[in-house]
Amino acid sequence: MLEQGTISIHTENIFPIIKKSLYSDHQIFLRELVSNAVDAIQKLKMVSRAGEYNGDVDEPEIQIAIDKDKKTLSITDNGIGMTAEEVKKYINQVAFSSAEEFIHKYEGKADQPIIGHFGLGFYSSFMVAQKVEIDTLSYKEGSQAVHWICDGSPEFTLDDSPRTTRGTTITLTLMPDEEEYLEPARIKNLVKTYCDFMPVPIKLDDEVLNRQKAPWRESPSSLTKEDYLEFYRYLYPFQEEPLLWVHLNTDYPFIINGILYFPKMRPDVDVTKGQIKLFCNQVFVSDNCDEIIPQFLMPMRGVIDSTDIPLNVSRSALQGDRTVRKIGDYIAKKVGDRLKELYRDDREQYINAWKDLGTFVKFGTLNDEKFKKQVEDIIIFRSTAKFDQTATETPAVEVQSQEGDVWQDVSPAKSSTSPYTTIKEYLERNKERHENRVFYSTDEASQATYIELHKNQGLEVLFMDSFIDTHFINFLEREYNDVKFTRVDSDLDNTLLDQDKSGEIVDPKTNKTKSEVIKELFEKALNKPKVNIRTEALKSGDPQGTPPAMVLLPEILRRLR
Ligand code: ADP
Ligand code: MG
Repeated sequence: MLEQGTISIHTENIFPIIKKSLYSDHQIFLRELVSNAVDAIQKLKMVSRAGEYNGDVDEPEIQIAIDKDKKTLSITDNGIGMTAEEVKKYINQVAFSSAEEFIHKYEGKADQPIIGHFGLGFYSSFMVAQKVEIDTLSYKEGSQAVHWICDGSPEFTLDDSPRTTRGTTITLTLMPDEEEYLEPARIKNLVKTYCDFMPVPIKLDDEVLNRQKAPWRESPSSLTKEDYLEFYRYLYPFQEEPLLWVHLNTDYPFIINGILYFPKMRPDVDVTKGQIKLFCNQVFVSDNCDEIIPQFLMPMRGVIDSTDIPLNVSRSALQGDRTVRKIGDYIAKKVGDRLKELYRDDREQYINAWKDLGTFVKFGTLNDEKFKKQVEDIIIFRSTAKFDQTATETPAVEVQSQEGDVWQDVSPAKSSTSPYTTIKEYLERNKERHENRVFYSTDEASQATYIELHKNQGLEVLFMDSFIDTHFINFLEREYNDVKFTRVDSDLDNTLLDQDKSGEIVDPKTNKTKSEVIKELFEKALNKPKVNIRTEALKSGDPQGTPPAMVLLPEILRRLR
């Protein structure tokens, strides 16, 4: 026997579940009621644009009022209001939203998106209220104001109301356990958290609580550098200026808006935990969207606003979500584009930012093939060569002379004028002398003597001394498989000194033999250990630290034999 039908829901039993389990967090009710009020105001704008309302449109506003004696909290808007029919349709039917119908009917009339969607938000008020009342007057001509009351059971009363002003007031009589919401400070705090960027003034005792303006909704071309910086300072007060930012705005294949900043790295910046705020139509959703951001961009801060991020699913499900992965790719691409732009247009700022974010770019290069393709040509390394950093063409090489003050240069805070170069530029510049070899140092202090030795030979050394460089060198070796990467202290015999069998000249610049070069170096190292001691001491915490030159002594003697 075949039977088809519709499953029915027993209201009595399901209603408490809706009220209690819809949201884990009670405080969400305020966000939901204010969102409805914002929607009501936006809807009035839409019908008025469509020429269907010619009455007065006063300044949109949402007013929150607290009555401690009556234990009520009320939210009043001067939006579209509801007729008795609409209350029956949209309020009495749980999970029935007017949003879709409305958006369809007034297509193209919105300047702000409608927030509501599922038709459930209103019922979150029963998480904190023992009684909820709606007092509302519709914009429609000749409407009768109505008053709806519900005590949290599935029974309600609907009656005429004496109200004469267009709009809606929702009044909650709070449950004894929820009286914290009668505290103005608590309400202010919630509005600041959830409703700060909603586009309507939200007032408590005539004080406007929210900022309203959401810069990420604006077009990037209408914002100045100062606007971006101001917004950063607003979101993260008392922090140093960010290094760079990207403005996300796309409608396809997903909708996302946002502004992400790369902060200046400081010891208190936690790079393991995301700091981006997630919004949905300017309504704050969560403080954490780690799953959306590619791991190598974890230090980024700012806001993301998207209706395409599934909000009510588990974290692991979110990570596997296709849209979420695509959003991650999009963000990485935007960051890559911005870096390339900076590299091209403002090399000095790029280098400055690189000192903080270079590690993350390298990390991204190792982990994300698309990102790698984007940025591989703008990965730079600090170099011993001296050249004009502002020049965009490959700089002319000028190897530091023996009298160069490399020892003084060695300080933990690297001078901002230190030259940086890409591997390609390096190879091009040193084509003749290096024969496709890259010399690198993994530790400037302990390898100082070797670095000096290379420099004296007219060889340029790159510093690959961040913790990620150990892995990055392997990567470079794979990428440039015809290039030999040589650590300054690892291969001296083959690369530099083997030629010198019997007092042969090894430094064409000074006509010095191997023994002379090493002897000089050795003396120099002993005579000028000042900075070496300092940097070594910094590392070991021992101000009397042994200069590396001393450590090298047996090695130098062995070579001289
Ligand atoms: P949603 O906002 O997702 O549509 P809600 O449960 O929050 O769902 O609200 C249900 C419906 O009730 C809304 O779609 C809207 O039609 C109506 N409504 C709620 N609050 C207001 C209000 N302040 N002014 C006018 N209509 C409202
Ligand atoms: Mg709603």
